[in-house]
Amino acid sequence: MATERSAAGDVGRWFGPLATPAVNALFDHLAHRIDPKSDLVFASTFELLVAVVLSAQATDRSVNAATAKLFPVANTPAALAALGAEGILPFIRTVGLAPTKSRNVARLSQLLIERHGGQVPRDRESLEALPGVGRKTANVVLNVAFGEPTIAVDTHVHRVANRTGLAKTTTPEQTERVLLVRVPPRHLLHAHHYLILHGRYTCLARKPECWRCPLLKLCRFSAKTPRPPTADPVG
Ligand code: SF4
Repeated sequence: MATERSAAGDVGRWFGPLATPAVNALFDHLAHRIDPKSDLVFASTFELLVAVVLSAQATDRSVNAATAKLFPVANTPAALAALGAEGILPFIRTVGLAPTKSRNVARLSQLLIERHGGQVPRDRESLEALPGVGRKTANVVLNVAFGEPTIAVDTHVHRVANRTGLAKTTTPEQTERVLLVRVPPRHLLHAHHYLILHGRYTCLARKPECWRCPLLKLCRFSAKTPRPPTADPVG
């Protein structure tokens, strides 16, 4: 059986899907340890939408640094539409793809005013009709702002799902479909935060920190990282 490697990191060999009791235990462990909150800083649904649009192919830290400057100046659809793409760009220049994102933020602000009375819509179709908003962004907004049990699949979620044996998939869309079926209903609301944060801080793409991972005995990753001799004791 071949070891699989992708941009999301080595996902190891496939030993078959995790059994349902193991899936339940896996999410219980994550829920016990992880506070399911976004690392993005926002104070309204609109700020969340803008932050998530800016976060495509960028770190949450870089987005937070940009929005810490932008939002005190403009944090409503009317204010950002008035600022326009050229006015937004200097605030977000350090975020990847800034010219495109500044155009998208200005245009989506204008469309929110024209189509939705300046409010962020609660339905997927309307969200995905906005520039810069794809399925993942819509899933984040629906979940975080509106409490919908969606699963936004980014590179971390895709990697962790495939390493652990939750899924065997090649695309984020496939991973989302599998997780929607396999995640225990009681954990569905926060599942994507559990998996994102686990991937961001423990199951790292290049070198997962398996030796301190609460999922060590459940996970089916074939090349678990041993405890380094210099590591602090596991807390
Ligand atoms: S044991 Fe934990 S850190 Fe290691 S691959 Fe599995 S989920 Fe990732």
